[in-house]
Amino acid sequence: MNPNKKSVFRLINTSDQNWSDWHWQFKNRITKPGILANLLHEPAEKREELQRAATVYPLAITPYYFSLINHTNENDPIKKQCFPDLLEILQTCTPEDPLEEDSHMPVPKLVHRYPDRCLAIVTEICATYCRHCNRKRFWSSSPQISMKTRLTNMIRYISASPQIREVIISGGDPLTLEDHVLEELLVSLRSIPHVEVLRIGSRAPVVMPMRITKDLCRILKRARPLWFNTQFNHPHEITPDSARACNMLLEAGIPVSNQSVLLGGINDSTEVMKNLLYGLQNISVRPYYLFHCDPAKGCEHFRTDVKTGMGMMENIWRQCSGLSLPQYVLDVPGSTGKIPLNVMSRAIKKDLQKHQHFFDKFK
Ligand SMILES: *Cc1c(COP(=O)(O)O)cnc(C)c1O
Ligand code: SF4
Repeated sequence: MNPNKKSVFRLINTSDQNWSDWHWQFKNRITKPGILANLLHEPAEKREELQRAATVYPLAITPYYFSLINHTNENDPIKKQCFPDLLEILQTCTPEDPLEEDSHMPVPKLVHRYPDRCLAIVTEICATYCRHCNRKRFWSSSPQISMKTRLTNMIRYISASPQIREVIISGGDPLTLEDHVLEELLVSLRSIPHVEVLRIGSRAPVVMPMRITKDLCRILKRARPLWFNTQFNHPHEITPDSARACNMLLEAGIPVSNQSVLLGGINDSTEVMKNLLYGLQNISVRPYYLFHCDPAKGCEHFRTDVKTGMGMMENIWRQCSGLSLPQYVLDVPGSTGKIPLNVMSRAIKKDLQKHQHFFDKFK
């Protein structure tokens, strides 16, 4: 057991059995800035900062994710992803909804931006709230309609839209829902003939890996073809527990892919990104996207510029296994799709000049 786990463990005085139970992890999330400050022995002024930021954007950290923090490092990458920061509320000029998702919702919380795919926001709740989340505007919104009505309306719209062949179940984190709710949703979607593919977007393997249980895998297995996308952002998140969670999904025949967000001071260096991508390849998780951080309100301090991202990705493209390369993309409002920030087209200009005689042969 690592020492951090022990300290949270002692504080909450729990057993290993509790620790590996996702309901326990969820129930014991750190949600009060005061408790977080106590755990860290923070000085009064830091305490007040945590409080102010968490009043605008709620705080939640599972004991498991908290246990990954190295407290001797002030800039710990796990800490930065989950601790409220005053910088979140000092930003005034960025939009809440930069991708204009809210204007692409034919029924509440169903985003239909691309003709053949839609994205169902099935809950606003997450096991751990990521401070860089581009949907943080939803966190404190209390649902106006019941879960049942919300899901029924979505299913009705999808049934009546034959162009939709893929449904992305997202949130919030859909794996904060109970098994029977998820199962009912998956079975309903599967009964729609034109829905060929399902996708789940969840950070559970990273922030609450005990959520991936045998029962859940059985439910997901029956809903195949189902693709699972998660979000590892830093190599420290690749642990025996998260690897085990991914492996259970893989053994159930569910491909696991990863969508990282490029985060300043967390993973915007070639070294860290390379370790992350190789770490993912080692646990058979396919890097899919690296998102340029959206200009969403409350996330501005995580943003790097595209040039830094392109430079880093060019290094990685030149150094790393092709299987470990994600597509670096920029999401934009509207229906164009995510725009690939094509490192190759930039790099290839140099290569083209170097290998001109070679290319000339194939004209
Ligand atoms: C990202 C996204 C998708 C999925 O896009 P892919 O490029 O297929 O991964 C679908 N719908 C919405 C609204 C999205 O934001
Ligand atoms: S798990 Fe996803 S939806 Fe939830 S806070 Fe993190 S990025 Fe946002």
